Amino acid sequence: MSTFTSLNPASGDTIASFPIMDERSVHTVVEDAREAGGWWAQLGYAERKARLLKWRTIIVSRMDELAELMHREGGKPLDDALLEITLTVEHIDWAAKHAARVLGRKAVSPGLLLSNHGASVRRVPYGVIGVIGPWNYPLFTPMGSIAYALAAGNAVVFKPSEFTPAVGQWITESFGEVVPERPVLQLITGFGDTGAALCASGVDKLAFTGSSTTGQKVMATCAQSLTPVLVECGGKDVMIVDHDADIEAAAQAAVWGGMANAGQTCIGTERVYAHAKVYDEVLGRISAIARDLSAGSGPDASYGPMTMPSQLDVIRRHVDDALTRGGTATVGGRESIKDPYVEPVVLSGVPEDSAAVQEETFGPVLIVNKVADIDEAIERANATPYGLAAAVFSRARGEEIVARLRCGMASINSVISFAGIPALPFGGVGASGFGRIHGEDGLREFARTQSVAKLRIPIPLVLTSFARPKWAVKFTAGAVRRRFRG
Ligand code: NAD
Repeated sequence: MSTFTSLNPASGDTIASFPIMDERSVHTVVEDAREAGGWWAQLGYAERKARLLKWRTIIVSRMDELAELMHREGGKPLDDALLEITLTVEHIDWAAKHAARVLGRKAVSPGLLLSNHGASVRRVPYGVIGVIGPWNYPLFTPMGSIAYALAAGNAVVFKPSEFTPAVGQWITESFGEVVPERPVLQLITGFGDTGAALCASGVDKLAFTGSSTTGQKVMATCAQSLTPVLVECGGKDVMIVDHDADIEAAAQAAVWGGMANAGQTCIGTERVYAHAKVYDEVLGRISAIARDLSAGSGPDASYGPMTMPSQLDVIRRHVDDALTRGGTATVGGRESIKDPYVEPVVLSGVPEDSAAVQEETFGPVLIVNKVADIDEAIERANATPYGLAAAVFSRARGEEIVARLRCGMASINSVISFAGIPALPFGGVGASGFGRIHGEDGLREFARTQSVAKLRIPIPLVLTSFARPKWAVKFTAGAVRRRFRG
C-alpha cells in the first residue's frame, strides 16, 4: 500500500508516514467495526460510560504529550492545543454521563384512541458511524462526533485530515487502551479518495466536518446508498457591535475570534459590523490590538503558521480583491502574507459583494465595516450563504439581535463560548451544513428512533382487524368528531 507523510507546517519536518487506504481496505475496516459495534452496543450505557470516563482520564493524564503533537503537526501554539484538549475532555465527560438519560427508553402517552396500549420511544445505535474530520481542530472537531457516537453505542471508523493523521492515530490508540477487546474506534488514513471510500462503504451514518464543497461531494456519494449524513461545514461568522457595547471587550474578542489559530477556525470571527456611533473607536481598538500580535512557532507567538499551504492563495485573493475594490488596510496588507505565516490584517470599508466578505477566508484577516444601525448590521450579517455562528456585543439588546440572525449558534458579549458548553448543540444552517453535534441533539444524531406500541389491555373493539364490527369505525369517528367539534 502506498503511503503519505504528515509534515510540521512550520519547519517542513516529517512527523510520520501513513498508508493511503483504498476502497478494499476501508471496506475491511468497516466490516470489523460492524462486529465490534454489536459488542459495544450490548455492553450497555453504564459500562460504556465507565470506559469513556477512563478514556477521558487517560487524555487528561497525557495532555502535554498530546498538545506537543498537535503543536508539531498542526502548527498551533502549545497553549491553544491545551485549550482544545481541555474543551474536548469536557465533551467526552458530558456525552458519557448523559447518554443513558437522553437516549434511554422513554414512555409517552398513547393518546385517547389507543389508550389500552403502552407507548414508548427507544433510541437504537445505528451500528457503524463513519467520521471524516478536518485539520484545524484535529481533536475537538472530530470528537464532537466520535465521543457522542460512542456514547450512543456505535462503533466508529475515523478518517482524520491528511494534514493531521498523527493526532487521529493518537485518538484511536488511546481509546484502544480502555477498550482493548474489540476495534470499536478505528483509524483509516489517506486523502479525499479514502474519505469517499468511507462514504460508500456501507457505514450506517456519515458525520462529516470540513469545507462546504467537500460536504456536497460527501452528500452526493452517500446519496447513492441513502446513507444518512451529518454535515458540519465552513462559515463567515460575524460580530455585531452595538452603540452601547463594552468596546474594549468587543475589540479583544474580535481579534481573538478572528486571529487565534491563525484564523483557521470554522466559528472564527471574519466580519465585524460596528454601529456608526462607535465605529471609529471599535476599528481603532481592534487595529491596535491586532498590531501587537505576531505569527510564529516560538513560545511567544500569538498564533502559528497556515496549516494547509493552499490557504495562502485564498487569503491573497481575498485581500487583493478587498483592497482593489476600495477597502482600506489599517493593519498589514498584501505584504502580510508570507509562507507559511500570515501576519495580522485588518481591513475596513470593504464592499459587501467582495470575495473577502462573501467567502470563507480562513486566515488572520478581520473585516471591520460601518453600519448606520442594527437593522443594517443584521441584514448584512445574514447576507452570505453561510450561517454557522455569530457574536453580539450589546448591553441592552443582545438577545433581540441574536433572535434575528440566521445562524446555528451565537454568543452574547463573548465570542465562541457556546463551543465550550457541552450541553449546547453545535452546527449551522445554509452552506454551513445541517445536523448537530454536542448536547442532547448531538447524542440523538447517533441513534435511530424506534417507536413501540404495546397492547396492555385487550378489548373487543379492534379497529385494525377485518373482524371488527360494522359500526366500529363510524362509532369511533363520531366520538372524535364530538371531541374536536369547534
Ligand atoms: P476539506 O473539506 O478539504 O477536508 C475535510 C475532510 O474531507 C478531510 O479529511 C479530507 O480528506 C476529506 N475529503 C476530501 N475530499 C473528500 C471526498 N470527496 N469525500 C469524502 N471525504 C473527502 O476541509 P479542511 O480543509 O480539512 O477543513 C477546513 C474546513 O472545515 C473549513 O471550511 C472549516 O470552516 C470547516 N470546519 C467546519 C467545522 C464545523 O464544525 N462546522 C469545524 C472545523 C472545520
